[in-house]
Amino acid sequence: MYIIKYKMKKKLFLIILITSLFNISFCSNLFFQWKITDKEKEQLDKEIVELIKTNTELYKKLILNYQSRNEENSEEPILGLSRYTECQKCLKFVHDFKSLKNKYGFPQVITSISSLLSLVGPLISSYLPYDIDTINGLIEKYGYIILENFYSKFMTSYFFCEKADLCPVEKRKNYDNSDIFAKKILETKIEKKKEEPKGKNVLKMLQITDLHIDPLYLEGSSSSCTKPICCRKDSTSSKKEPFSGKYGFETNCDVPWELFDSFLEDVVKKDVDIIIWTGDNAPHDVWNGKQETAYEIAKNLTIKFSNKLNDKNIPIFYSLGNHESYPNDNFRDNEDEKLAKFADIYKDYIGSEGNETFLKGGYYTRKYKDTKLRFISLNCFVCDSFNFNLINSSRTYTKDMFKWLESELKKAEEKKEFVFILNHFPLNADFMLTECAKRFQALFDRYEYIIRGIFSGHTHLDDIEGITGYFNRDKIIHLNFIAPQFTTYSRKLPSYRIYTIDKETMQVIDYEQFRFNLTKSNNEKKPYWETAYKASEFFKVNNLLDYNKIINCENMEGYILNRYSGSKVGESKKDKPESIKDARCVMTTNNFDEYFKCLNPEIGLNLGFVSVITNFLIGPFENFNE
Ligand SMILES: [Zn+2]
Ligand SMILES: [Zn+2]
Repeated sequence: MYIIKYKMKKKLFLIILITSLFNISFCSNLFFQWKITDKEKEQLDKEIVELIKTNTELYKKLILNYQSRNEENSEEPILGLSRYTECQKCLKFVHDFKSLKNKYGFPQVITSISSLLSLVGPLISSYLPYDIDTINGLIEKYGYIILENFYSKFMTSYFFCEKADLCPVEKRKNYDNSDIFAKKILETKIEKKKEEPKGKNVLKMLQITDLHIDPLYLEGSSSSCTKPICCRKDSTSSKKEPFSGKYGFETNCDVPWELFDSFLEDVVKKDVDIIIWTGDNAPHDVWNGKQETAYEIAKNLTIKFSNKLNDKNIPIFYSLGNHESYPNDNFRDNEDEKLAKFADIYKDYIGSEGNETFLKGGYYTRKYKDTKLRFISLNCFVCDSFNFNLINSSRTYTKDMFKWLESELKKAEEKKEFVFILNHFPLNADFMLTECAKRFQALFDRYEYIIRGIFSGHTHLDDIEGITGYFNRDKIIHLNFIAPQFTTYSRKLPSYRIYTIDKETMQVIDYEQFRFNLTKSNNEKKPYWETAYKASEFFKVNNLLDYNKIINCENMEGYILNRYSGSKVGESKKDKPESIKDARCVMTTNNFDEYFKCLNPEIGLNLGFVSVITNFLIGPFENFNE
């Protein structure tokens, strides 16, 4: 996924429309409920008194507030407060809101919005980015999770009335203690220079990411439509668009199984020792996708891999992507059933060594054969800023994963092992929570010497992020390799890459980028996988340890073309200063907060701005280190 911009008019219209629909349906419910009887009112007052009595701190402040007002009141003081202070009015509102919610629940709110949209949909369809079905699907899939989590976290007397500045409650502390965490762990850092790789014996490691296979892809169907993905049987468009090809189409279409089969045929011909597969297998059917389909696609991929490569004995290391769970990006702390299903599908990749932690939290570690190389695979959901479940959760999985990561890195250091990290989101992705990114950066800095490679995907762009020291921002200590996508979605050419690894030091010394010649393959109905570029040649370096030269890339025009996998979009963007600025910001920042500031975009409805909001809503992790 990447930042999507719509036209300004459409943006505003959509925001206003959705907000008003929400308000109309919600307020009408509220209005009918608001007429409460005297008896109910009496009961509410009693409940509010109880509410204050149980909160000593709040009670003390209210008494002070009340006394300072010096108001004469013959009523019982606390009840008096409930009638006369803004805070009490606020608490009462929350109370009423809660009883309203308990009576109607959010599903009804969602249904009201959906039915209103269906009603007015035909009149406003030309202003909407997708058809009504898709928008309703999105509201139904995400609306409940957002409302429920938002409600549980913010509609409490303590939080809401304090935030609204109506209750004189002490300000909550700023729990973002990443700096304290970083300072503490960096005290024990072992300062050791990474040895120069000789490159005499090498390993070849293939990376495939963001496959997004669409089982409903249909050759000869319309490549443009009113849904987020096209090239399906039901894809219809008023425009005369070209029809999809045998292997895919360079627009908002995901890819058919034929493309994956052709990839496997190509891999067989190459000398590969290791495969890393960094997530996202299901199509972009965000509005109506089903969990079962995601399982089926993943299972089918593993079967295809083993049928084709079994006799070659190539170990595969897997890392979960945000399109694995439905609704996409959303995963709760107690979804053990989903994890058990994934653990079963990817059992050969997780191995017995990783099974226990994968079942617990979707992360694992496993060694590469009998070598000093250890893979650590992380679970992206626990740091996903679009995982709305994180708004109101104890985030046990997140805290556990960081604790586990720290202890695994420590163990690896003691055993003198080298580590490769697999993380679907790069540190500065719009989907990566800033607070997580900061902790990753601190850990990657602390274990600089033993971490020999960090591999990601997700952005559907061919990029490199230079990770610097946590405090020493001038020193690049790692490259986060962000490999381009396998799908054609968002107008890209299917890609995969093969890294060259020095066997002695386990340093990444080079990579070769492969790309699918889609036009030629579709025309001739025969697959053509071609070499796009070799990293050392493109960046003009001896090996990929020359971090500064790579990050200060001189040929930005060429970089942009590669960034968009040589697609037509890349060509049109290659001279545009904003494309270069974006690429530079990815190269030089290490969390979304920094990246967004670096980008300094125009205000508008795009994923970047939504990320700013969700990062705020999810907020700092309280007691992260406990
Ligand atoms: Zn993806
Ligand atoms: Zn992704």
